[in-house]
Amino acid sequence: MNEQKNFSGGPGALPLAVLRQTRDAIEALPETGLSVLGMSHRSAWFRAVLDEAEQNLRTLLGIPSHYHVLFMQGGSSLQFSMLPMNFLRGTKQRAEYIVSGYWSAKAPPEARHEGPVSVVWDGYDGGYTRLPHADELPLSRHAAYLHYVSNETVEGLEFAGVPGLPDVPLVCDMSSNLLAGPVDIERYAMIYAHAQKNLGPSGVTVVILRDDFARRARGSLPTMLDYRTHIDTRSLYNTPPVFAIYVLMLVTRWLRDDIGGVAAMADINHAKARTVYGALDAHPGFYRVHAERPYRSSMNIAFRLPDAVTETLFLDAAKRDGFHGLEGHRSIGGLRASLYNAVTPEATAALAQWLTDFAQRYG
Ligand code: PMP
Repeated sequence: MNEQKNFSGGPGALPLAVLRQTRDAIEALPETGLSVLGMSHRSAWFRAVLDEAEQNLRTLLGIPSHYHVLFMQGGSSLQFSMLPMNFLRGTKQRAEYIVSGYWSAKAPPEARHEGPVSVVWDGYDGGYTRLPHADELPLSRHAAYLHYVSNETVEGLEFAGVPGLPDVPLVCDMSSNLLAGPVDIERYAMIYAHAQKNLGPSGVTVVILRDDFARRARGSLPTMLDYRTHIDTRSLYNTPPVFAIYVLMLVTRWLRDDIGGVAAMADINHAKARTVYGALDAHPGFYRVHAERPYRSSMNIAFRLPDAVTETLFLDAAKRDGFHGLEGHRSIGGLRASLYNAVTPEATAALAQWLTDFAQRYG
């Protein structure tokens, strides 16, 4: 396997060392001699994988013991529904939502099935190019929870700080930046992130849930949609995605041992982002970054060229030269470079050089 230049928005690049171990594990795991794809979820081997995956996440992010770490299915989209089913239904409260991009806009309609919702800020009219300041958020101390998305994957907007009021449970979709850097876990009642950006392959979603918040869930819910089911069975109520959890465990091990943790990862990621933004900003009449400067994401860089013809030319030429996944999300078009954890500084530097060359040729 060669070093890959994969800038896909998701599923995204995985570390080469993990891909190699995974390739071997599909044939035969070193521990059992059997393929990872044929391992029982009730085996001692899988119990150890689950335990290590959880422990590595706890160590990497500093997750205290009064938070549960769950491995669930249904992607982050199911969390849009499960959150209000468990914590809005049957209360007399309103749930608050910040709508700052394509993905955060998907969450309030699901909550409206369960109870009253306030969208406390909506960036739609501004084309989702910036994030709200604290004084723009009319928050209530009586809300059931406040939900936001820490990194808007499509538009490339990333919160630098944490919004919200201290007494209101804060819930965050961190699908596209969990494990990219340190998180102040104790500010949150719940965090969720599907694996297919920084954690592993698609098929598993990590939910980090504070125990006292989890116990607030009320009413009778379908078993699979009740967080308490997954807490009480330690993510083994039914057959979990064994393969995806195994690869996630390898990724967390890589992040711990090869990278040295999330703070070191953040330094690397910030340097990578500076390299690409630098190349784009050097040609302001040619490249146009979607996000306003203070809100720029270090994970996803959405940008445009002067016209659609040049964008098509760009994508064709990039692919020919071995740079993949640079097309923008279907909702806004344009271009996007995603610099998830497994995208190497070398691949990033190669992309920046390629962007410079392309601008010099066609700009
Ligand atoms: N939230 C965010 C921030 C996302 O980027 C995505 C998908 N890329 C989703 C939610 C939806 O995730 P899924 O496809 O796992 O349901």
